[in-house]
Order: sequence, then C-alpha cells, then structure tokens
Amino acid sequence: MEEDLRARLEEMSTADLVAVLRSQNVEEWRPEVFPLVEAILSQRGVDVVALKPARAGLEETDYAPVESVASFSTALEANLCRMALEEAQIHAWLSTEYLADVAPHLGLAIGVDVLVRKDVADAAREVLASIKTGAAALPSEGEPCPKCQSEQTERLQATDRGATIGAGRLAGTPLPEHDWRWTCGTCGHEWE
Ligand SMILES: [Zn+2]
Repeated sequence: MEEDLRARLEEMSTADLVAVLRSQNVEEWRPEVFPLVEAILSQRGVDVVALKPARAGLEETDYAPVESVASFSTALEANLCRMALEEAQIHAWLSTEYLADVAPHLGLAIGVDVLVRKDVADAAREVLASIKTGAAALPSEGEPCPKCQSEQTERLQATDRGATIGAGRLAGTPLPEHDWRWTCGTCGHEWE
C-alpha cells in the first residue's frame, strides 16, 4: 500500500508536493502522506526544513477553535470554574465575554459557558472532574454576615439587580469580573 502511495506521489511535480506539505490538509490527504512527501522532496533537493517554520508560524496565528467544557447559570460560578482552570495553566474564556459587546442581557439569560481551546478541552475536563471529586478545590465559599454573624448567607449577582436600574450599564461595557454581592438570609443585610 505504502509503495503504491509513494509511487503516486513521486509522479507529482515538486511544486505540487510542496503545496501538499504546506497545506497539511488532513481532510484531503491521509496523515501518512506527509512524511512520504517530505522524504520525496528531500530526495529532490528541496529544503524541507525551511518549509516547516512557515507552517508552524501559520498555525500559531491561526484562529484557535474553542469548545465549551462547562455551563453555569451565573457568571460567578463560571468565573470560579475559569479560575480553577487558569490555576491548572489552562486558559479559559467565558461565553459572556463574547456576548457582552453585542447582547449582555442575552449572555445572562442563557447562562454562562466556560470555553477553552479545543486542543486542551480534554485536559480541562479532567481538571474539572478532579475538582468535583475533591482532588482540587474551588475557592472557598461562605462568608458570615458582618452584621449578625449568621452563616445563612448567599451570593447574588449584582448584575441581575443592575439590569433593572439602567440601560446605560447594559449598553456598553463587558461585565466586570467581580460583579456580585452577598445577602444575609437571617437579617437581610447586603454587602459586597
Ligand atoms: Zn445578617
């Protein structure tokens, strides 16, 4: 099989082979084609090594597709998740950061996805799974009420309240990262 493949590739012109190697198009070509093309080009005296950096540079500037690894109903939860991923050296974005410019209200309505690059999605899921099993911990929860010391406190997303206050706030800027408040279930005190 490989002999056939090589024979067919050898019939191609050097320019065509260079184009194949440069494209790295795995949908059009089987993966085993590329090393063969490389070998044939070397034989023909083409500086294959010189072709490679151009390819690597291209990949770096290419758009990196992202994938959602977790969904949350609030930006706060999603942010905690993102912080845990960043701690594991995995860069993550919130879907609201993408939506904030065009439709901040929509971002809140549909929940918040945590996005990572596709090539690290599996690693990200492993990190998240280990958090769930307690191997790693999300930043601690719970803050006693500064007024009555009750532990019956809850975090609120300040943006939910902000939405009713003024459209000006929604129109422009992306959501601040620490946009939430605490509320006390015992005395009703609210603080930030
Ligand atoms: Zn209280």
